[in-house]
Amino acid sequence: MTQDQTPRDPRLLIVLDLDEACWSSHEDPDRPGQHLIRPRAHLGTLLDTLLEDFQIGIWTAATPGWAAQGLGAVLTETGTDLHTHARFLWTRERCTWRYDERTGERALCKPLSKVWRSTPFTKERTLAIDDRAENYRCAYGNLIKVSPDTGDASDRELLLLSRYLRTLKDCGNVRQIEKRGWRDQAERL
Ligand SMILES: [Mg+2]
Repeated sequence: MTQDQTPRDPRLLIVLDLDEACWSSHEDPDRPGQHLIRPRAHLGTLLDTLLEDFQIGIWTAATPGWAAQGLGAVLTETGTDLHTHARFLWTRERCTWRYDERTGERALCKPLSKVWRSTPFTKERTLAIDDRAENYRCAYGNLIKVSPDTGDASDRELLLLSRYLRTLKDCGNVRQIEKRGWRDQAERL
């Protein structure tokens, strides 16, 4: 855990998704049925930015075991132990099942109100990074949606995201920022 948010530490909170945002998984050719986790291109750059300018929370709909496996792969690849730098690591149990009117099925989502009830952070001072917008349908104003990682080594999503996040680090109210065109903005930086 890092220190609490105080007047001396006014950094925004980033609630970071893991699967397809920070890594992709592939079947292990040597062990059928087993999967290997491959950290996304430029993940190290993103983590450097997050550690320098933000506080980090992790919220994944995965199981604790899968999250631990992936965070181990991230440590090996980037040298950063993301778990120790995170204020919290929330997994599937913290997600909420909601009825999705569009699909007619129940789906997991991540209501940020749970974060705001249990941490000092507010809705004005929280950003969520996720590849599934549906996870944040209760808080679209806090979301930066990233494309899902496909394992493409030339993928620049996290490099651009790092650039974009640096423009927001001193933002007083993230919900007043239009974030849907973030990638185009980052390309011009
Ligand atoms: Mg995801």
